[in-house]
Amino acid sequence: AKSAGRNNFQFFDAKMNEAALERLGIEHALRQALGRDEFRLHYQPVIDVRTGRVSSVEALIRWQHPTRGLLPPGLFIGVAEETGLIQPIGDWVIWAACRQLADFRAAGIAGVKMAINISAIQMRNSDLSVLARGIIEAYSLVPGDLVFEITESVAMEHPDETVRVLDILHDMGVELALDDFGTGYSSLSYLRMFALDKLKLDRSFVEDIGQDIDGQVICDATIGLAHNLGLEVVAEGVETEEQLAYLKARGCNLIQGYLFSRPVPADEVIAFIRERNFP
Ligand code: C2E
Ligand code: CA
Ligand code: CA
Ligand code: CA
Repeated sequence: AKSAGRNNFQFFDAKMNEAALERLGIEHALRQALGRDEFRLHYQPVIDVRTGRVSSVEALIRWQHPTRGLLPPGLFIGVAEETGLIQPIGDWVIWAACRQLADFRAAGIAGVKMAINISAIQMRNSDLSVLARGIIEAYSLVPGDLVFEITESVAMEHPDETVRVLDILHDMGVELALDDFGTGYSSLSYLRMFALDKLKLDRSFVEDIGQDIDGQVICDATIGLAHNLGLEVVAEGVETEEQLAYLKARGCNLIQGYLFSRPVPADEVIAFIRERNFP
């Protein structure tokens, strides 16, 4: 039994090495990707239910890999977070998204905000607000042009720290959204202390509309909770007219999902905004 245990352990060890090696490989490749400017942002419009116009676009990172094509964030954001590379990559995202927003303005598109996903490590770095201020100034934007999205699980990892950083950003005038809401076990008392503007209802509940009563109940409860706290609700992952009608009827404020548009390159989202906002 003892030797079998040891063999198991060696097997496990070898597996771990393999994972570590693979991670090292990806880390090296990610560093190279930064240097070679292989990251791209795609943009997904968020529609105001009341007006039908584009209220904001969410910047979503992709990796234009030289041989493997366009890779989604699910394949590399995890490693970027584990290795700390999310810090420079995340900084790049804020720069690139703000440069794009300035380009929107130059192209005559006003009144559309830019939503940017902020990682746990960026949140913990007290320079986030300093960086944001610098970039906003560099592109002659105003803080209210930006929405920072943090996931509920990240917010609750270090809730007191989150309260502090969100306060600073809120005082600056940056809009704040709690992402993936409903998946991270927020304590309601913290939810009240976070200086939020929006809750983003997670896609996993939206997809239950018309399918699963429990998920539907969570949608209803989230919208009610958010409105009682004075927050707007963004529903993610809206794919069907049925989901849209349901969410509309319950007073959901903003809608994002394939029903309107997938995340697309800048020129395509500009065409989409022109059509919707300036017909
Ligand atoms: P997220 O912030 O929850 O972003 C929404 C994800 O849902 C996006 O996946 C989007 O393409 C997808 N989505 C939108 N509408 C629909 C729909 O109707 N149906 C379905 N099935 N999916 C929809 P994506 O682009 O693969 O991003 C995955 C996650 O990666 C994001 O989830 C976010 O957590 C993370 N991420 C993306 N870009 C960044 C970034 O610049 N920085 C950081 N830290 N994380 C990022
Ligand atoms: Ca997001
Ligand atoms: Ca989300
Ligand atoms: Ca579900």
